[in-house]
Amino acid sequence: MKSLPYFCRGEVVRGFGRGSKELGIPTANFPVSVVDHLPADIDTGIYYGWACVGTGDVFEMVMSIGWNPYYKNTKKSMETHVIHTFNEDFYGEILNVVMVGYIRPERSYDSLEALIAAINNDIEESKLKLELPEHLKLKEDNFFTSVTSLSSAAPPTTASTSQTIMNGH
Ligand code: ADP
Ligand code: MG
Repeated sequence: MKSLPYFCRGEVVRGFGRGSKELGIPTANFPVSVVDHLPADIDTGIYYGWACVGTGDVFEMVMSIGWNPYYKNTKKSMETHVIHTFNEDFYGEILNVVMVGYIRPERSYDSLEALIAAINNDIEESKLKLELPEHLKLKEDNFFTSVTSLSSAAPPTTASTSQTIMNGH
């Protein structure tokens, strides 16, 4: 996918209440404004990359891009699981991510256990892939270090604009 790595940021909004947190795999949802900016070549499926909440540390992440039931599956949704244990929820904060690579397409599972096992495999695969030097260097990208000046005060529309600018590299 030629759009990778893909940088974007946006406010964390409430998801579909699918109970991801109860499965031990909470997913922070982006608003439609961020999803609408996705380049056309970004397929649905599972991605890996780096993420940081507000001005916090940068952690590994896995992201699922799928079809959004709220919009009768006409719009994509982007849900990020940050590979880190947070003490509190961070709804309303700015989530900054870089999608680095693609793991696999979406699929459905026969059981909850199979779904959880697949997600845990994705998490392990992300960690391994992100150890590559070319991926590690994205963790140090200006996109994350410049967050202090760009993030929390910026309204969602500005986030989308900066997203466009950030993808110049
Ligand atoms: P929702 O349906 O509202 O997205 P989830 O059960 O998926 O609910 O939980 C997502 C929320 O959990 C996020 O919006 C965030 O505030 C919180 N959260 C806590 N830890 C994490 C994490 N490691 N990764 C993603 N979200 C997390
Ligand atoms: Mg969620």
